[in-house]
Amino acid sequence: MNIGLLLDMAADGFGDRVVIGPRDSGITAAQLRSMADAGAEVIRAHSAEAVVYLAVNGPAFPVAMFAAARAGVPLVPVNYRLGSEQLDALLSNHPSALGIADAEHVHILQRAGLTTITPEQWLTSAQMTEPAADGGNDAAADVPAVIIYTSGTTAAPKGVLLRNENLTSYVFGSVEFANAGEDQAALVSVPPYHIAAVANVISNLYAGRRTMVLEQFTPEQWLHTVRAEHITNALVVPTMLSRIVESDADKDVPSLRNLAYGGAPMPSRVIERALELWPQVGFVNAYGLTETSSTIAVLGPDDHRDALAGDDERIRARLGSVGRALPGVVIEIRDDDGALLGPEEVGRICVAGEQVSAEYAGIGRVTDEQGFFDTRDKGYLDADGFLFVGGRADDTIIRGAENIAPAEIEDVILRHPDVLDVAVVGVPDDDWGQRIEAAVVLRPGVEVDSESLRDHVRKTLRSSKTPDRFVYWPEVPRTETGKLVRRHVVDRLVNLSEPASEPA
Ligand code: ATP
Repeated sequence: MNIGLLLDMAADGFGDRVVIGPRDSGITAAQLRSMADAGAEVIRAHSAEAVVYLAVNGPAFPVAMFAAARAGVPLVPVNYRLGSEQLDALLSNHPSALGIADAEHVHILQRAGLTTITPEQWLTSAQMTEPAADGGNDAAADVPAVIIYTSGTTAAPKGVLLRNENLTSYVFGSVEFANAGEDQAALVSVPPYHIAAVANVISNLYAGRRTMVLEQFTPEQWLHTVRAEHITNALVVPTMLSRIVESDADKDVPSLRNLAYGGAPMPSRVIERALELWPQVGFVNAYGLTETSSTIAVLGPDDHRDALAGDDERIRARLGSVGRALPGVVIEIRDDDGALLGPEEVGRICVAGEQVSAEYAGIGRVTDEQGFFDTRDKGYLDADGFLFVGGRADDTIIRGAENIAPAEIEDVILRHPDVLDVAVVGVPDDDWGQRIEAAVVLRPGVEVDSESLRDHVRKTLRSSKTPDRFVYWPEVPRTETGKLVRRHVVDRLVNLSEPASEPA
């Protein structure tokens, strides 16, 4: 099985249906197949061993992904926000690739020696080129389909290699059956270099659901597109949902039925607000990593409703959980020595299953003897198999002898009505080993002093988890997909030895 065959299933099953783009002028499944086959010919004509995509999202992206799959070479979507040194280092891994880059980035790929065309030229050549008579879809299941570089929030970027079989296993485990999505339309607002964009485009096609992609996310554009395109299913990262619920724009989205969120911890304040705002929407918390071909656990719409309606504290707490493992995925909690832990015991989240690639280009697979991959996230399973994620093990603050998850403190600080964003980190300290510092972004024009923030935290958490210092910044460093770049926060706090400041 390969993702090119999923395209055949779509084109054979519902060829006339628009599957990419606007409902009245988008690309049908049959057109997508012929464009992918023509694109595969272009790739072969260049003897390209990969296709590097360095551009914002748009219809060229899915066409490139399926064309690369049909040609049996990986698509390498690259983060256009990387610095030129990082880009040069990354591109040196793909010297024989065909490049697709928007005008702004063409010179970067050309400097790396890649034959490069723009997304518009790519779409034109995929319409004008004669596809091979048999389509030429000969990729074996173990052929690499996509290489995605990690964002480097915790380490240097590594190329995660996802094979066709990893991605198709994910699709079969997450979508109940093909062609279920007539009259459904999905909006993908994460950038193309994020695994969620790749996985979503493929699973929407398999489900028969039309995919719209947003070039660049703004809350206004997102809300407008949902209304104008009758979007039923959407996928956002927590910072996007936060900006949407905070926005002054019209938030009425009557067509929306299903909203998936994930990629970083969701602040409880934001999800509670969204549940209140859109009672007709089924919310899905999706937890996963690039290395696992995206989602491995989901908290579904019924779980959200039960958590909201329930009197039982245990059920209510599930709003803070990422739900249960998808079919075909096994999640275990292990201690630092690899020993299996029981329910409610906090340890490292480890995962196995066919969708788990756990493989890095140039490094190989990084699983234990039983095939488990250590996500480097800390967490626990409750007695019913609901997974609670406490953030990256590397981010744990060790203050005195106590292990403290910064995400828990951030969630509490964010519940303060005057706080817009926050980053909590451990900073080296002579007495405690590490002390807790919080960089807080306040709503414009408000003033809050550190003592009242401290009181606010103490109402919910014990005093050892109360930040030792609050500083006030205009923003905290986040990636485009909303991940906090904690090492930049720590660097700034330590190197600039910024004095504790009260808001101006
Ligand atoms: P790196 O940080 O290693 O550079 P990355 O940021 O590119 O990698 P991804 O694979 O995009 O890594 O992100 C995976 C991580 O995102 C998970 O390990 C987890 O910490 C976090 N994450 C993903 N989904 C959720 C979720 N639903 N809830 C909480 N955290 C999540």
